[in-house]
Amino acid sequence: MRYVTIDTQSDPTSDTHPTTEKQKSLSDRLAGELNEIGLNDAHADEYGYVYATIPSNTDKDVPVVCFCSHVDTAPDCSGTDVKPILHKNYDGKDIQLPDDTTQVISTKDYSYLKEHIGSGIITASGLTLLGADDKSGVAIIMDMANYLVTHPEIKHGAIKILFTPDEEVGKGTAKVDLQKLNADFAYTLDGGEAGTLEDETFSADGVRITVHGVIAHPGYAKDKMVNAIKIASAIVAALPTKEWNPETTQKREGFVHPVAINGIAEKATIDFIVRDFETANLAKHEERLQTIAEEVLQHHRKATMEFKVTEQYRNMKEILEHHPQVVAYAEEAYKRAGLKVVNEPIRGGTDGSRLSFMGLPCPNLFTGMHAIHSRHEWIGVKDMEKAVEVLVNLVQVWEERS
Ligand SMILES: [Zn+2]
Repeated sequence: MRYVTIDTQSDPTSDTHPTTEKQKSLSDRLAGELNEIGLNDAHADEYGYVYATIPSNTDKDVPVVCFCSHVDTAPDCSGTDVKPILHKNYDGKDIQLPDDTTQVISTKDYSYLKEHIGSGIITASGLTLLGADDKSGVAIIMDMANYLVTHPEIKHGAIKILFTPDEEVGKGTAKVDLQKLNADFAYTLDGGEAGTLEDETFSADGVRITVHGVIAHPGYAKDKMVNAIKIASAIVAALPTKEWNPETTQKREGFVHPVAINGIAEKATIDFIVRDFETANLAKHEERLQTIAEEVLQHHRKATMEFKVTEQYRNMKEILEHHPQVVAYAEEAYKRAGLKVVNEPIRGGTDGSRLSFMGLPCPNLFTGMHAIHSRHEWIGVKDMEKAVEVLVNLVQVWEERS
C-alpha cells in the first residue's frame, strides 16, 4: 500500500530512459529497503532498474533464479495521488469507491471477488488506478526477500531480484543489463488469479504496406491520377470482417489487425499487427494479406506497392520448451501451496517473452491483480500471500532438485 502511493506512471511519448523520472523514486526506495534487510549489493541504476542478490545458503550448485516485476503503472489511467483502501473482512457485497461513488466494483463484473469473502481486498479510492499491476509483484518479491533473509533454515541457491521501469510502454527490457544480472532463469510476477501460470505468448510481426499512386493536377487529372489514399482504403475494405481480426477471435486463434493508416494522394501507408501462437502461421497470415492487397492493386495498374514485414516478438514457449524444469518447478511450487495450476496462453506479449529471447527463459506467475489499468483495479490480500508462499516453495524446489 505504501508503494502504490508513489506515482510511477510511464509515458509512451517519451524518448528518455526511464520514460518518466518519477519512476526512480520508487526504484530508489526499493533499493534502500533491500539494503536495510541486508542485501548489500542492492542498487537502482541511472535508468531506474533495481538489481539485488539474496546470496546462496547451500553447498549445492543451484542455477541462479531471478524474480522480476515492473515499477511503472499504465498511462491509460491516472496514477497520481493513489489512495489505497484495505477492505478488511470483505463481506461479499459490491464495493462503492468513496472519492467517486459512480465507481462500483461489482460481484457481477468480477465474480472472483466471491473467493475473497472474509479476507482483505485492496482497492483505490475512485479517482485513480490502484497500481496492483505491478506493485503487487514488487510487494510479493520484497516480502519473499524479507522472509528468506529472516529464515536461514530455508535452503536456496543465489536469487536475483530485478525491478524494471517502463513495462507498460513496451520498454521494460530496453536498458536491462543481463550480464550484470547474471541469472540462469527468471520468473515475472505480473499475472492475475491465484494458480494461473503463463508460459505462452503470441508470436508477433508488424507489416507496413506502402502504396504509391500517380499524382497530377486535380483539374487536369483525367486518365492520369491514381490516388494512393483510395487504394489504401480499398485494401482495408477488402479485409475479412467475420474472421481473422481481433474483434472476432479468441483463445488460440491468430489475427491480422490494421492499427494505422496515413497518407496523401501520392503515397499512403497502412500499418498492421500480425499475431499467432504458432510462429510458422505468421508467414501464412502475411501471404494472405499480401494476396488481398495485390488483388486490389490489379485494378490500378499504374500504382505500385511495397510490403514490409518486421519481427516484433516471439512466443516464449519456443524457448521454455528447451528448459522444461522452469515451468515444472513452478507447477510443483503451486501444488505445494495447495493451488490448482491453470496454464493460460497470453494473447499479447510480456517482458518475459522479450527476456526469454534475450537468453533468460522467463514464464509469468500470478499476483492476484484484477481490473488492471482502470479505476476498478483491485487485489485480494490472500492471493498475494499465496504468491509469496509459492516463491518460497519455488526456491526450495530448485535447491532440492539440483
Ligand atoms: Zn503488468
